[in-house]
Amino acid sequence: MKILVTGGAGFIGSAVCRHLIRDTDHSVVNLDKLTYAASLSSLAEIENDRRYRFVKGDIGDRAFVADLLAEEQVDAIMHLAAESHVDRSIDGPGDFIQTNIVGTYELLEAARAYWMQLPADRREAFRFHHVSTDEVYGDLPLDDSLFTEDTPYAPSSPYSASKAASDHLAMAWFHTYHMPVVLSNCSNNYGPYHFPEKLIPLVILNGLEGQRLPVYGRGENVRDWLYVDDHARALALVVTRGEPGRSYNIGGRNERSNLAVVETICDTLDRLSPLPNGEPRRELIDFVTDRPGHDLRYAIDASRIENELGWRAEETFETGLEKTIRWYLDHPDWWRPIRQKRYAGQRLGTAKA
Ligand code: NAD
Repeated sequence: MKILVTGGAGFIGSAVCRHLIRDTDHSVVNLDKLTYAASLSSLAEIENDRRYRFVKGDIGDRAFVADLLAEEQVDAIMHLAAESHVDRSIDGPGDFIQTNIVGTYELLEAARAYWMQLPADRREAFRFHHVSTDEVYGDLPLDDSLFTEDTPYAPSSPYSASKAASDHLAMAWFHTYHMPVVLSNCSNNYGPYHFPEKLIPLVILNGLEGQRLPVYGRGENVRDWLYVDDHARALALVVTRGEPGRSYNIGGRNERSNLAVVETICDTLDRLSPLPNGEPRRELIDFVTDRPGHDLRYAIDASRIENELGWRAEETFETGLEKTIRWYLDHPDWWRPIRQKRYAGQRLGTAKA
């Protein structure tokens, strides 16, 4: 298959591009606008592969996308391009409405026009895979309840509301126009190449440099963490084997409170790279004023994708986190230039997204 990946220079999109080129026979066209969150250096290992092409462009530019689809004759679209940081959506929701809602609408329309003129066999095999988040479901109490694909949408933040809107648009293109749309909703991702404003890389890098480690509220909010390469494998299964009109929840069965995540990072860093003064990094933890509308708990029931598509997360939180920390220790060339730039409108990186 030839797959158009939108947002392929971002955290998850770049993991998807690397997985598709490294581990499958598919070809990839990566369409990315290169916002502040993008990093082409995350694609260095595949950039010269003849099955990979990068194109700079905006999903919201329908004519541009239409030309690209006609030129590339893709078999599927994996749509990951988005504004993705909750704190930024609180400080300035406009970009989230524009990219996540209007941009997705323009992309759906370009895809529909392209899909409609395909010959019948290719039209049936075509897939539009909309990649989304579990945050569309709102939050859960601190018990053992889980989000299933039937949980009603109840988003809390401008980010999750914009993703919820885009999920509804994508599914409407299936119900109304019968375009073969598949949807996936995933829990918090972590792993290599994660932009340093998000909780896990922020804490690793602040901890490495002996700086304060900000934690919202009392750190009680619970997230279900998934290693990004496990997500990339799940997405490749959904786009190739998922049933049109169906959604798939993806999660790692790895629930941790934010405080537990930060403490584990502190202890791992102390073991792998102790501070020169020997201070335990837990001493650096700073509890700061909670994020407005902060969801208490997210947790995913992933049994549909496990049972129907045979997917399983390979990493536990402990194995994935150790790999991630070692990756940041070994790759200052990737993160140092990003950390040195000032991120506009930064509140602080907690939760995911
Ligand atoms: P990211 O912010 O790291 O990357 C987003 C990418 O999209 C960037 O490369 C950016 O340049 C690109 N982009 C933004 N606007 C664009 C536009 N108008 N046209 C073309 N490209 C544009 O995001 P991520 O964390 O990799 O998330 C990818 C997707 O997965 C998003 O849709 C997000 O909602 C979803 N998701 C993320 C998580 C998570 O934990 N990070 C979890 C579940 C779902």
